[in-house]
Formats: sequence, structure tokens, C-alpha cells
Amino acid sequence: MDTRMLIGADLEVGTEAEENVVNPKTGETILMLPEASIDQIDRAVNAAEKAFQKWSRTTPAERSGYLLKIADRIETEADEFAKLEALNCGKPINAVRNDEIPAIVDCYRFFAGAVRCMQGSIAGEYMAGHTSMIRRDPIGVVGSIAPWNYPLMMMAWKLAPAIGGGNTVVFKPSEQTPLTALKLAAIFADILPEGVVNVVLGRGATVGNSLINHPKIDMVSITGDVATGKKVLQAAAKSVKRTHLELGGKAPVIVFDDADLDAVVNGLRAFGYYNAGQDCTAACRIYAGPKIYDKLVADLSSVVSDIAFARPDDSENEIGPLISERQRDRVASFVARAAEQKHIEITTGGKTHDGNGFFYQPTVIAGALQSDEIVRREVFGPVVSVTRFSDTDQAVAWANDSDYGLASSVWTKDISRAMQTASRLRYGCTWINTHFMLVNEMPHGGLKQSGYGKDMSHYALEDYTAARHIMIAHG
Ligand code: NAD
Repeated sequence: MDTRMLIGADLEVGTEAEENVVNPKTGETILMLPEASIDQIDRAVNAAEKAFQKWSRTTPAERSGYLLKIADRIETEADEFAKLEALNCGKPINAVRNDEIPAIVDCYRFFAGAVRCMQGSIAGEYMAGHTSMIRRDPIGVVGSIAPWNYPLMMMAWKLAPAIGGGNTVVFKPSEQTPLTALKLAAIFADILPEGVVNVVLGRGATVGNSLINHPKIDMVSITGDVATGKKVLQAAAKSVKRTHLELGGKAPVIVFDDADLDAVVNGLRAFGYYNAGQDCTAACRIYAGPKIYDKLVADLSSVVSDIAFARPDDSENEIGPLISERQRDRVASFVARAAEQKHIEITTGGKTHDGNGFFYQPTVIAGALQSDEIVRREVFGPVVSVTRFSDTDQAVAWANDSDYGLASSVWTKDISRAMQTASRLRYGCTWINTHFMLVNEMPHGGLKQSGYGKDMSHYALEDYTAARHIMIAHG
């Protein structure tokens, strides 16, 4: 396994303290990886700054060609990428192979096309005797920092629009899940011009902190916790860096009495527990109408108790463990505190799984109230709460009553009610009669403390470029 970071044209190992990279399925150490030193971070940023001079002046077609090459290499080596990601994150390999890798490859291909047809206002004489035109130009060096829940996919969401838009990047994967980033770094060394993408390893408090405070970084893009996003904003304030923040989520799911109950229950089983609920869009906060509530709780609890996990034959598994012991214990403590409330009933799950690894039982929490911690805070685990609402206004008010604003969904057979409810929700995305579905053509990003800035779609290209006005006076 290649353990080298990418700095300019060189693949080299870090020279600072070693971090444990753990297999969440067993709790065993996969390998130890040293962090980047301050000198290595500086050299990575300098390499990106130098590369920017040429890369920012390449044509969209040239950059598109490179993005297509990246996509092809990931596709060709899909099996190795899938194995590494499954090992490092504990995900069932079929989920990586069948769901994630095709979406990742498509992300690079989407931006390879999108960068060649960016849109904007037309040139013209908006002041007599003067012609105006708009350019969209790259920002500069982007410091890009990813979380552990979808390591290779978050890397694609960040790198493809950044380098497609003509920027250069210093990328830091999560210290918990660096393995696929290292494999991709070796491929970048092979196919990209020197310094366009640099990959450095290390913890947030050390390497991440150095990146967000680095004077030569022009923009910071981060996906992570709200607390981390706030640190990025504080650091960015010092030199007025651009920021692109994809932070947490606590997605509300409004189920009206007329919804197709089977579709709801199957949808929640799939979209509440995918990736063991370690997903910022997970369908985790259910508001059920007064008539459908009891049957929804009963049916959901029944199907959730069948979710396959921790089986020796990985092909049978639908979800994996939590990423770490710490995360598993955090999830367990949320459920334990919820269980202490008299009005709450844990209708399935609610326990740490016996045996190796950081597994937690898929859990349904019924009878939750709007004021409960389990309804308000992001758990980031296989835990779904269900709350009964009495009318539409209450459902919308409760759904919006959250610090987060990333994703939401509405389930009803009445299209008019669906559209009216969707228009009142303060979330970056609202699905109707589904949840969780993302496509590279459409933007993904939040409101409120879920952050701002879009991933995927032409909106991401806009975020990674600046609109510039060029005006010429007629002689
Ligand atoms: P995290 O904030 O702890 O870490 C995210 C990344 O930031 C890691 O690479 C980490 O090393 C780095 N980091 C941490 N502290 C830092 C600091 N002080 N300076 C610079 N970098 C720092 O989050 P996590 O635990 O890896 O990921 C889970 C979180 O990410 C959840 O809250 C989840 O909701 C969120 N998330 C959001 C989205 C989205 O699209 N909105 C997608 C995935 C995950």
C-alpha cells in the first residue's frame, strides 16, 4: 500500500508523529501513517502556488482532458479503490463498488463537461462608449479538507470543480480515512502536471489548522462538523479567505397521513440507515401525521430489525460499523440519554453490538418530542427518531426548528400539499416521496449552520471561480 503524500512532483512520507489508521470492522490497526511537517505543508502550498501560474491559463478543454483521465483511472482501478475504502471505513464492499465508485467517476466526468460550457451574462454596451464583459476566473490555491464518511467521494466533490475551474489544491483527507486519497495521490503524480493537486496527511488540530491559517491559501473548502466550520471562519477572517463550508445535518422527514406507507417505510429503512447513518442527509428526524404514526412506528421497527450488519459474509451486509470506537460510544450515549425519558420508547435496536468492531444496532426511537436532544442534535449513527405531529403548520414549524439546513423530505400522495410544504422548508434540498438521492447535475449544500457553498453541479464551479467585470472604453 502506498503511504506517500504528494508534494509537487514528489511522493514522500510524512516526517511527524504517526497516526493509527484503524479497521472499524475489527478495531485492529491497519497501518501507522506519519503526519506532514510544517515544512512539508509549506512545500505543498508553494508547489500549488507555482503550479497555479500555468494551470490557471490552461484551456477548459485541457483541464477537461485531465478530469477525464482521472475518471478513467478510478474506473479502471475501481476494484482496488473499493477494497481500500471498504477496509478503511468498514463499509460493505458492494455499497462502495455499486453505489459510490460509479458516482465518483461520474463526478469527474460531469465537471469535465461542465467546465467547457460555463454560463454568464453577455458582453455589451451597458454604458455608452464602453463595452463590458464578464470573465469567470479561478480563485487561486484552495486548501481542501475532507471528512471520513465518504472519503473518495468527498475528494471528488472538492477536487473536480476546483481544478476544473483552474485552481490548484492542497488536499487533506480525514486522518481516520486517508487510504484511498493516498492511492489517488499516486495516480495524480502520474497524470497531472506538478503541483496542481497536493495531498498532505494529518490531524485537524495540526495539519488542518496549518492549512486554514496558511497565508498563501486563497480559499478553504471543508466538509465536517459545525464546530470545525466555525474554526475555519475564524481563521479565514484574518486574511479574508474565501470559504466553502459543508457542515452537518439533521434531516427532517414529514410524513402526511395520506402517504404510501410501504414506500415511506422502505425509504426510511434505506435512507435513514445507509452508511450506518453517518451521512449528513440521513433521514433521521421523522415527523409522522396523527393517523399514520402508530403503523409507521410498528412497520418501520419491524423492517429496521432486519437490516443486515456484522455478518461474516460481507456480501450479505447492508450497513457497516461506525467509523471509530469514539463515534460508536457517542451514538450509544445519545440513545442512552433518550431512553431515560419516560415518553420515549426504543422500539428496535438501542444497543452496542456484541463482538469485534464498532457496530451499533439499527435503532428506532418512538415518541420523541421536539425539545428532545435526540430530535435536535446530529447523532451521525443508525438511529432514527419518530415524532407525532397534529397539523401541517406544526410539522413545518418543527422541521424548520433546527440549527441545521441541509436536507429534508415530504411524503404525501397530494402533489399540491407536497409542493406547498416543500416551498416552506428552509433546507438546501427537499425531496418529495423519496430522500437521499443526489445527482452530479444538481447542487448539494446547506442553509443555516449546515454551511454554504454548493458541491456538484455548475453552482460548484461558480463557487470555485470569481466573476470578474472587464470594461473597455471606446477610443
Ligand atoms: P470533523 O469536522 O471532525 O473533521 C472534518 C475534517 O476537518 C477532517 O479532515 C479533520 O481532520 C478536519 N479538521 C478538524 N478540525 C480541524 C481544524 N481545527 N482545522 C482544520 N481542519 C480540521 O468532521 P468529521 O467527524 O470528519 O465528519 C463528520 C461531520 O461532517 C459530521 O458533522 C457531518 O455532518 C459532516 N458532513 C457534512 C457533509 C455535508 O455535505 N454537509 C458531508 C459529510 C459530512
